[in-house]
Amino acid sequence: MIDVCNIQVMKPLLQEHGFHFSKAKGQNFLIAPWVPQSIATDAGVDETAGVLEIGPGIGPLTQQLCLRAKKVCAVELDKRLEPILRQTVGEFDNLEIIWDDVLNQNIPDLVAEKFPGLRPMACANLPYYITSPILTALLEADCFDSVTVMVQKEVAQRIAAEPGTEDYSAFTVFCQYYAEPELLFDVPAHCFLPQPKVTSAVISLRVRKERNWDVLDEKVFFRLVRASFAMRRKKLANGLAAGFPELGKAGAAEVIEAAGFDANVRGETLSIPEFARIANRIVEYVRG
Ligand code: SAM
Repeated sequence: MIDVCNIQVMKPLLQEHGFHFSKAKGQNFLIAPWVPQSIATDAGVDETAGVLEIGPGIGPLTQQLCLRAKKVCAVELDKRLEPILRQTVGEFDNLEIIWDDVLNQNIPDLVAEKFPGLRPMACANLPYYITSPILTALLEADCFDSVTVMVQKEVAQRIAAEPGTEDYSAFTVFCQYYAEPELLFDVPAHCFLPQPKVTSAVISLRVRKERNWDVLDEKVFFRLVRASFAMRRKKLANGLAAGFPELGKAGAAEVIEAAGFDANVRGETLSIPEFARIANRIVEYVRG
């Protein structure tokens, strides 16, 4: 197996194929072998797993996934990588590569088609320019056991944040609604070529099998979350009145009180069950 993380191997390989990194495609390739090995082992990839990888690049993580999983399906946007991947991962007969933008894929259909009878997982060193849309698509697909990804460290901290902290955001609530996050390890910039400007981190999201949030209407719930964080320094009543014009100021105050909160409560301190309580009171108020 070609040691793609070895810079003495990687540079001539890229040169041979006239490959130049694309910043626009978020191409920072791993040059530290412990990183893809740790991602694959910490994610718990084994012979029962069907793994969706996003952005294989020249294949360092792909190799580690193929060594452990029953099947790997990798989606890569950049067709220039095809001859390189043929050399680095061509030997694996449990690998299929789809040449497309991952955001064009119907992920539940893809998982059902490629991984019948297997435990579906997603693993990736994500292209950072589309971290949020990819994670949103993976979690909303609602078909994975777990999603283990490398992202910017600050994004990982935001995903795992607790209510009332600086990092707690609408994206935190979205991710934790679907999954339980666990920060695995940091990855310094010198582990990549070219080096990114930020530190990275690997985070595992164990998808909740049952979501006992007692939410009457998910659309209202997520609208409430967005409205709360749109004015995060202000009282929740202001954000609610702005995000739900149908409530008006009086209605906003009424639902907050009916859910058992003080009129001065701030949205950024609320947990998911607390958001759910208010969202359900909004649904009841609007229904009349
Ligand atoms: N997995 C490799 C590694 O760890 O060295 C490469 C990771 S690099 C950060 C991100 C990869 O995602 C690149 O190969 C890039 O071409 C690919 N990519 C970027 N945008 C994509 C998209 N919309 N769909 C699929 N792949 C994409």
